[in-house]
Amino acid sequence: MHKWLWNALRLEFSLTPRGPLLIKAGMTSPDPSLPDMQFVRTMTRQGHTIFVPGSSLKGVFRSFTEKVLRTHDRACDPFDRERACGKKLQEEEDTATLYRESCRACKIYGNTRLRGRMAFADLFPEGQLKTETRFGVAISRLSNAVAHGPFDMEIVVEGSFRGSLRLGNFEVWQLGLLALTLQAVNDGLVRVGFGKNRGFGEVKIAPTAVTIDCCRPDVPADELWGTGRLVPEGERRRYGLQEDDSLSGLPAATDEVSMGAFVRRCYDPAGWEAIAERSLERLSQVLGVAT
Ligand SMILES: [Zn+2]
Repeated sequence: MHKWLWNALRLEFSLTPRGPLLIKAGMTSPDPSLPDMQFVRTMTRQGHTIFVPGSSLKGVFRSFTEKVLRTHDRACDPFDRERACGKKLQEEEDTATLYRESCRACKIYGNTRLRGRMAFADLFPEGQLKTETRFGVAISRLSNAVAHGPFDMEIVVEGSFRGSLRLGNFEVWQLGLLALTLQAVNDGLVRVGFGKNRGFGEVKIAPTAVTIDCCRPDVPADELWGTGRLVPEGERRRYGLQEDDSLSGLPAATDEVSMGAFVRRCYDPAGWEAIAERSLERLSQVLGVAT
């Protein structure tokens, strides 16, 4: 991570299941009245509640990002003992070198040597959720016999969750990858949780509010600058950033708040759509892919 915070994106969204959704609890409750596979719960001031851990969403986002980048040969395999960025890079390297030499997926989500820049908050129900219990069996592919089950599963079928993500010190192409991932989720290409091959896990993610903090209050109202444009020349080189890391011609923010050394610009969903579209163009440009 850079020493300073140059910019940061915060995206608030609602996540609505479009079919059965089950994020499995790691431990099964000893209560025999609860299903075998329970939806994960946590304790809040209001008592126990079903929730979607931010980490489970982050895992899904990362793996889609890797898939996209791998088609252009731009992401490491974190499980590859020799070639994963975290293995390849030496411990004594400074953060700038680690960042510069890491693949694009690791630049966003981190590796064993480099801290990630993307963070997901846990998602909590917005109003009432409707859950159902479904029964399932697993059939062994080899013997065509029941391999596991019957078991019952607790699934969410109605309602929605509210969550947020934060990306600090971003380059603009990273917003493009984020936009692409959100699109893939909404197209049903990326599913969340358990039972993807049972048709579970299709969700819709709708951004509700976006704020972009920037350390330069003099950035024109219709522009958005990534770290490559914001950092001094020496740092740009050490981190391997590009100077033309910015977007222009964006709709003005719905609100602008001065926060001392920072300016915070707030965008509505339409504003985010414009940022998403333009940052996707930037991503194609950076990856050298024709649109
Ligand atoms: Zn990597």
